[in-house]
Amino acid sequence: MKARQTQPNADIIAAIATAQGRGGIGVVRISGSNIGRLVRGILGKPLIPRHATCSDFFDEKGDILDRGIALFFSAPHSYTGEDVLELQGHGGTAVLQLLLRRCLDLGARLAQPGEFTRRAFLNEKLDLAQAESVADLIEANSAEAVRGAIRSLCGEFSDAIHTLTDELIQLRMLVEAMLDFPEEEVDSVDLEERHALLTRVLAHLSQTLEAATQGNMLREGAYVVIAGQPNVGKSSLLNRLAGEEVALVSNIPGTTRDVIRQAIQIKGVPLHIIDTAGLRESEDAVEIMGIERAHQTLRRADLILFLLDATKEPTIKDELILSSLPADIPRLLVLNKTDLIEGNNAAHDGSPLVLAPAIKVSAKTGAGIDQLRSELLEAVGWRDQEGGVFIARERHLLSLRQAQIHLTQAQQVLARAELFAEELRMAQLALNEITGEFSSDDLLGEIFSRFCIGK
Ligand code: GDP
Repeated sequence: MKARQTQPNADIIAAIATAQGRGGIGVVRISGSNIGRLVRGILGKPLIPRHATCSDFFDEKGDILDRGIALFFSAPHSYTGEDVLELQGHGGTAVLQLLLRRCLDLGARLAQPGEFTRRAFLNEKLDLAQAESVADLIEANSAEAVRGAIRSLCGEFSDAIHTLTDELIQLRMLVEAMLDFPEEEVDSVDLEERHALLTRVLAHLSQTLEAATQGNMLREGAYVVIAGQPNVGKSSLLNRLAGEEVALVSNIPGTTRDVIRQAIQIKGVPLHIIDTAGLRESEDAVEIMGIERAHQTLRRADLILFLLDATKEPTIKDELILSSLPADIPRLLVLNKTDLIEGNNAAHDGSPLVLAPAIKVSAKTGAGIDQLRSELLEAVGWRDQEGGVFIARERHLLSLRQAQIHLTQAQQVLARAELFAEELRMAQLALNEITGEFSSDDLLGEIFSRFCIGK
């Protein structure tokens, strides 16, 4: 573990920052120390910082490669905290490659994924949680995820962590002053103060954890199994639930398309729908592997949506499907096709299969769908947050939970100053991991390698 290090003599990195393919404009981005030679090499003149300069971009023979806008930001007033040059040229693959090649010939090297943001982090332009939210913003697939990522980027999550850390430091100062006089009795006033402050930190911590858990759900989504006999209306219901919020992306890493039928969004929360149709018996080796994967995904699911046809009595087949699903995953029973029965008296009312009250819907008319949408979200743990959520990652939740464990343990040893102080110290370390005050190189490597090149 070590603190951040600023880089006084950073080498020069360059990358095409805009997406691959053709576009109106393409940007090549350069960052490093002393990039004056490179600027003059490409533009033939020095640039005034923070001025948009319309210019030709030259190759090594002085021929024009492209013409566009050049922007120069001098250290430390830039995204990375180093000298930065942005060349906005025409957005064609070949022309951008030529421009990039020219930068490399002038001494730059190709940037690794996320290296610009990594440098911004190392130069304390943003903390680790903010740096991660840059990638989350780029990857966001819904308006809610965008807003959550922006909140984290603007520092709302980090501020919550800093508030917690400040409270912890206050508490630590109180105790550590006493460590020098171990033989003195702790009086009851001190104990009460410790207790009161610790209770306050723990309350703030659980609020932050709750908000972060919600933010994490916005990022990761929940896994929902949809099950039921053929023709009960599973596809129709999914289409109805998805409505206009059909997910932009539906390929989930590590799962195959036959397992995840579809990713839909409800209020911006991604729901990865696992289809049980692919779980039939098979002799085919490849199919067997697919089925085993499907079972693994199924075991991790957050919710089972079990569909029944309201016009039919449940049969042994329904019971068989239900009993084949993991018993420990919460279930939501849904009676579909209620438009076909009079006065909503489903054929299932009173059936022993329907132990919990079922939600009555019609995928055809849309009746009951709003209720199903909110019950579904509630069942997977989504709660509407008043002030909105900030995006958070699994590692943030782990650190928050770790801090919570240490603070809860601290409660048990209130009177034993040394143990108490140690638990507080551990809690603070866990919180510091979130914002990256102290982080291992491995963690940084893992985080930034998932960024796109040029960011
Ligand atoms: P799946 O096999 O479970 O995916 O079922 P489908 O979604 O393909 O639906 C089977 C049939 O039932 C189709 O003809 C649908 O149009 C029809 N269906 C689905 N939901 C409803 C509903 O709520 N009301 C009525 N009347 N028909 C429905």
